[in-house]
Amino acid sequence: MTLRVLLVEDDRELRRTLQGALTVEGYQVLTAASLSEGMALLQHAHRDALSPSAPAVDLVILDLGLPDGDGETLLASLRQRHALPVLVISARQADGLKIHLLDAGADDYLVKPFSVGELLARMRVALRHRGTTVRAAVTQYAQGGLQVDLTAQRVLRDGQAVHLTPTEFGLLARLVRSAGQVVTHRQLLADVWGPEFITHTHYLRLYMGQLRAKLEAEPSEPRLLLTEPGVGYRLVEADG
Ligand code: CA
Repeated sequence: MTLRVLLVEDDRELRRTLQGALTVEGYQVLTAASLSEGMALLQHAHRDALSPSAPAVDLVILDLGLPDGDGETLLASLRQRHALPVLVISARQADGLKIHLLDAGADDYLVKPFSVGELLARMRVALRHRGTTVRAAVTQYAQGGLQVDLTAQRVLRDGQAVHLTPTEFGLLARLVRSAGQVVTHRQLLADVWGPEFITHTHYLRLYMGQLRAKLEAEPSEPRLLLTEPGVGYRLVEADG
């Protein structure tokens, strides 16, 4: 099945460039140059007359600064109805804004200018995650000499068993379930420690340091457990 992407972007040049690149990659691309056009397409462009309630697209790429409003309005209205993956693209890069959008349900955030290759990689991750949450939860991870089996609670580095404390394992497991995606400090703290701990970012620094010491070949230059400055952490996408 051809995947359908809705691209909401008012910059004509960028819209054409992305539409061309995504079409070459095999996506079917619907474009909108404004908030109202994007909303209308989402509401009326049904893929299948037999299931009119199914979302019209598989993924949304959303610019924030649009002529008739803020892309965030569309994100909010989408989140009330669908679990569609949404990638925000914007020239705005304040950490606070990124955190806000991720917590509001955006799957990822790309600051302009970005490469098409980066966009395609983030799209693959977002699509896979939405797919896997429906089918089955992620339980395995392998990348760069690290192997994690969440069901067996087993962690191997270069084939050697690594002992993690329950909290370290919980943190790693949360990142494995979102591998390739940024997870905000708030999401990590809420999911691993509990909602009452969302301001305790020093826990994260401490436990991330411990995890890196156990899992990274060079803990001071992490290749797997990456910092998204001011926003959160990202475990590098799994192999294959
Ligand atoms: Ca814009």
